[in-house]
Amino acid sequence: MRGRLVVGNWKLNGGLRQNDALLSALRSGWEAHGGHRMAVCVPFPYLWQAQAALTGSAIGWGAQDVSEHESGAYTGDVSATMVAEFGATIVLVGHSERRTLHGESDATVANKAVAALAGGLTPVVCVGETLAERDGGQTAAVVTRQLDAVRSRLADRIDAVVVAYEPVWAIGTGRNAAPAEAQEVHALLRKRLGTAGREMLLLYGGSVKAGNASALFAMPDIDGGLIGGASLKAEEFLAIAAA
Ligand code: PEP
Repeated sequence: MRGRLVVGNWKLNGGLRQNDALLSALRSGWEAHGGHRMAVCVPFPYLWQAQAALTGSAIGWGAQDVSEHESGAYTGDVSATMVAEFGATIVLVGHSERRTLHGESDATVANKAVAALAGGLTPVVCVGETLAERDGGQTAAVVTRQLDAVRSRLADRIDAVVVAYEPVWAIGTGRNAAPAEAQEVHALLRKRLGTAGREMLLLYGGSVKAGNASALFAMPDIDGGLIGGASLKAEEFLAIAAA
């Protein structure tokens, strides 16, 4: 079912003491801010801490990446099963920082989505174009290619995925896509997803703040957000969730 979801991406941030403060502020503030569905994606070492702080609350937690493999000689990798053992329910897959900085291909991202589902996690599959691609009129082609790589692997299980449209030029830059610009891409993605897409959650990510969230989330095909920087401040993140 669609509804609203706001997911925080802590990226490479956090520490035991500050995580405690952030997680307990989220837990205590959640209800007062409307009780919308939300989750935080934390660095792997803090999964236990999210589990300890959020178990029994309505806030979910998960990881920011997952191995495409289940086990074996893959030094540094973490499997979906391992992540799920910490009560996690969600994982980011194909974030642009993984695609760009770690060379993840569309095929790798699709493999990771498959592995996440097999391990019992909901993959949040990130797609989005760079500024050069947008300026070159390639936005539709790029996001369609990225989405289709996952669709072709998952076939009729695609409805188990959450899709996040994150224009690369809007991530961490302070420059969000205009609501109508984002809506145009969301509508395209939903159409591409066919019948399954009608009930799927499509999130927008890229410099979402408390001040611009309402206008973005008011768009008919935007079901919530994937929030980076602003998810590190409890008040800001809760205000976005309530937007
Ligand atoms: C992100 O990390 O997915 C993101 C959207 O970051 P920010 O909100 O900081 O732009």
